[in-house]
Amino acid sequence: MRTDTFEKLYVDELRDMYSAEKQLVKALPKLAKAATSPELRSALEDHLDVTKGQVERLEGLFKDLGHSASGKTCKGMQGIIEEGQSLLDKDLDEDVMDAGIIASAQKVEHYEIASYGTLRAFAETRGDRKSAEILDEILRQEKDADKALTRIAQTSINASADRVDVDGEAFEDDDDEDVVERPSAPSQRHRPGNGSSRVSR
Ligand code: FE
Ligand code: FE
Ligand code: ZN
Repeated sequence: MRTDTFEKLYVDELRDMYSAEKQLVKALPKLAKAATSPELRSALEDHLDVTKGQVERLEGLFKDLGHSASGKTCKGMQGIIEEGQSLLDKDLDEDVMDAGIIASAQKVEHYEIASYGTLRAFAETRGDRKSAEILDEILRQEKDADKALTRIAQTSINASADRVDVDGEAFEDDDDEDVVERPSAPSQRHRPGNGSSRVSR
């Protein structure tokens, strides 16, 4: 017999994100601590504060719904955090590490963006405008965090990481000024991921 309702699916997905945010409250300080760029570090610390607020907002949402918030572990976030942790365990040049931290943090943000986009739509479908608004605000916070990370990567870190040679010494690369002088780098300059053949050792 099929007993699962749309409401149960919605509550389950909400619990998934509640678990995800709680995992992030523990993981973000580790990423921030491992970051060398002051800009990156403060972006991660800012998002930690935002994340703590999201945990509270989700708790309020569960209260309104009359359901408990706990009961699920977000394995998706667990996996993303594990990958980030294995990066931190590596002995990398500071700029390369920072580029990797951004890669990891952006995977987190994109998982969240996908999830809150769905949750907002679910709340709208259910006619729950109050919850839909809260979920929309959280969604916007995740998008802002993602954009901030992209900007930090494109304005400094990726170019620096790309100039680290096999001995960990920086070498000149003629496109660096280009990147530094154009903070809102147009999409054709976008380097997908933070990958570069020169980064690997
Ligand atoms: Fe979040
Ligand atoms: Fe999940
Ligand atoms: Zn986030």
